[in-house]
Amino acid sequence: MIERTNLLIGGEWEEPATGDTFEVRSPHDQEVVAVVPKAAPADADLALERARTALGGPWATTSPKERAELIRQLSAALQGRSQEIAATVTAEMGSPAKFALFGQVFAATSVLDGYAEVLESFSFEETRNGIISPVLVQKVPVGVAAGIVPWNVPLVISSFKLGAALAAGATIVLKPSPEAPVSSFLLADALIELGLPPGVVSILPGDADLGRHLVSHPFVDKVSFTGSSAAGRIVGATCGELLKRCTLELGGKSAGIILDDADLTTTVPQLLDAGLQNNGQVCAAQTRILVPRSRHAEIVDAMADHIRSLVVGDPSAPDTDVGPLVAGRQRDRVEGYIAAGLDEGARLVVGGRRPSGLDAGHYVEPTLFDDVDNRSRIAREEIFGPVLSVIPYADDDEAVALANDSDFGLSGSVWTTDTDRGVAVAGRIRTGTCAVSSGIVVDPKSPFGGFKASGIGREMGPEGLAAFLETRTVVLPPG
Ligand code: NAD
Repeated sequence: MIERTNLLIGGEWEEPATGDTFEVRSPHDQEVVAVVPKAAPADADLALERARTALGGPWATTSPKERAELIRQLSAALQGRSQEIAATVTAEMGSPAKFALFGQVFAATSVLDGYAEVLESFSFEETRNGIISPVLVQKVPVGVAAGIVPWNVPLVISSFKLGAALAAGATIVLKPSPEAPVSSFLLADALIELGLPPGVVSILPGDADLGRHLVSHPFVDKVSFTGSSAAGRIVGATCGELLKRCTLELGGKSAGIILDDADLTTTVPQLLDAGLQNNGQVCAAQTRILVPRSRHAEIVDAMADHIRSLVVGDPSAPDTDVGPLVAGRQRDRVEGYIAAGLDEGARLVVGGRRPSGLDAGHYVEPTLFDDVDNRSRIAREEIFGPVLSVIPYADDDEAVALANDSDFGLSGSVWTTDTDRGVAVAGRIRTGTCAVSSGIVVDPKSPFGGFKASGIGREMGPEGLAAFLETRTVVLPPG
């Protein structure tokens, strides 16, 4: 069992303001995995005070080159702890070991490396010809940021925010979630070794109340929130009222469109993996599978066969494909959607129950529904579990219309043997990201974010760095 007693506040280990703790239990067998401090508002106040002071200290004079180097060192320090981080995330939230090394660790370090690379060629100042006189247009740090993080890929989302803040020369207080706070202490260990100037980074695992405290705190200039669309609306409303800069990365209901020329031997395993990875708990999961009527039965059969071959069980076992859901309430939610799918007349092809022999954990079988109506709840709402819906279509136009008929707009994919055709279809999808014949739907050096209810703003790439900067114009003397 892991035990931690101190919090990373402004780059130092500090005793928490209260003795409150999170007891984290394994979603596989309910054993206690860790006890870690739960941060209180007083801890946040101290962290924000230090973060604000740091903006006027040595951190303010670091060069982009120095900051890029620090980000690369942090990435290397996390890579050096890969196995420990992967095992910790698996233990705290049930991410299968098969996925965790790539999806929980490499994804995080490649996001940091991506920010370092973007930073090295980013222009922080340019001279322009104004109408009356020349001007300098400068990019300056946004100030103090609050980064609010969900439990599904905790260090990846932390890296989205931390990488941008370090690249920009801003300071940041990260708030990991109550479900997956443990791995954030390994990130804190790596940050301590880095020797950042005091005040630049704090990590405060806490609940939604602490999140609200951070969002409304007068010392916070920018909120970078990742989580559900429901919570994102509340965070966005507070930021609007207080005129804080705000990035919202929210839920999704992405469509994987299989075109009629797709090669099923490569498409089916990759697309199903893009829907079921991390036990279906991925914001960009491809959960609506649009299939051409001309190949409907063939595709559904191939998918059902593949799903039946998946190993469901202990996430720490090396051959496990699908592990447990993060918590009992998440399983209740997923089972509620399975019941809704049956009620609404979808055809259950495979799964739908709790797997036998795994009663101690929060397990649900990987589940495939066919003949799903795109207007039904299982096609419209984010389930966040291993439940996929097949929706048949007649032609490419109908596929595009169905994909776009969603309240969300985060991600998507198009599967075809003709890349030009795939790119043309991808260009008609109203989502922040769309992949062609690939289940890798996020690129660590490229902007990621949502249209519609999937969020506002972008993370990663130059756009993600710009979201942690303010733009200032210095008007020079005329002539
Ligand atoms: P959640 O909205 O319940 O919580 C997310 C984080 O916000 C947690 O740290 C939580 O404590 C905090 N929080 C909750 N309410 C808050 C409030 N009113 N003010 C401030 N902070 C608050 O989401 P979750 O269950 O932890 O995560 C799953 C959700 O996250 C899914 O909807 C998923 O799609 C989304 N997600 C989105 C992305 C993305 O990049 N778009 C990535 C991962 C997860």
